[in-house]
Amino acid sequence: MGTAGDPTRRRDRTQRRIESQRKGGMQARPVVALDFDGVLCDSARETAVSAWRAGGAYWPEWRGPEPPPALLQRFLEVRPYLETGYQAVIMMRMAADGLPDSDFSERLDEHCNRWLEKLGTTREGLVDTFARARDRWIAEDEADWLGRHRFYPGVAERLTAALADHDVHILTTKQERFCNALLAAAGIPVGPDRVQGLDRGCTKAAMLAALSARHRGCPVHFVEDRAEALRAVLALPELAAVRLYYAVWGYGTPGDLAWASRESRVRVWTLDTFLQLGGGEPGNGGGGP
Ligand SMILES: [Mg+2]
Repeated sequence: MGTAGDPTRRRDRTQRRIESQRKGGMQARPVVALDFDGVLCDSARETAVSAWRAGGAYWPEWRGPEPPPALLQRFLEVRPYLETGYQAVIMMRMAADGLPDSDFSERLDEHCNRWLEKLGTTREGLVDTFARARDRWIAEDEADWLGRHRFYPGVAERLTAALADHDVHILTTKQERFCNALLAAAGIPVGPDRVQGLDRGCTKAAMLAALSARHRGCPVHFVEDRAEALRAVLALPELAAVRLYYAVWGYGTPGDLAWASRESRVRVWTLDTFLQLGGGEPGNGGGGP
C-alpha cells in the first residue's frame, strides 16, 4: 500500500547518495608515495661528506672536513648498496679499507654489525652521530650543505604539478628534518605532514601499508630507486594493488634495472616519464632506457 510520497523520498535518498559519493570521490585522490634520495634528490656527495665528518668521531686519522677525492669517488660507486643513511659511515670505512664491491652488495649488514660492536656503539648511536655531523654542518654553513644536493632535472616541476590532483607523500630513510629542509629550499610545496622518515622507526613497506589502509579504494603509486624496497612491497599480499615504479636515474645497478624490467608489476620510469600517471596498468610498456 504505497503512498505518493514514497517515490519522492526514494529519489531524495538516491540524490543524497550520489551527492555523498561525489563528495567522497572528490576527496579520494590517487596517492603518490615517493622515495626521496635517488628519486627526487641526488644527495650522494653530501652523504659521503657527512659520513666522513661523522667517522672522525671514531677514527681520528679522518681529519679535515672533506674526504680524499679517491675515497669520495669510491663511495659514489658503492652508493647503490646503501639502505639507511647511517650505514654511510661504515661504508666509508669499508671504502677506506679497500673492500671490493661484493662486500658492499652481499655483506653490508655483517660489516655494519661488526663495526658497531668494535666501536662499542649501537645502530641508534651511529644514527645519532651521523645526524649530529649533518646538524653541525647545517649550523655552520647551511647554504653549503644545501648546495651539495641536486634535485634531478624536472622532478620539482613534475612533483609540484602532481600536487594539484594527487595526494603526495614522501617515504624516506632520511631523518625528516633534513628532507623537509631540502624540499623547502627547492621550493617544493610538500608540507612536513606529508614526509615520513627514519624517525618513524618503521619500514617503507609498513608506511605504505598504513597509507593504503588510510586511503582504501584509491589508487596508490609508489616510486623507488632501490630494487630491494620494491621487492619488500611485492612480498606483501596486502600491498598487491599498489602500483610500483622503478626510477632508473637513481642509485640502482644494471642488475636492479634488469630485475625491474622483468618484473610484471613494476613499471620502469625514466626522468622523461616520471609521474606520467595518466592511466594504463603497470608493466614495462616502453619505460626503460
Ligand atoms: Mg632511494
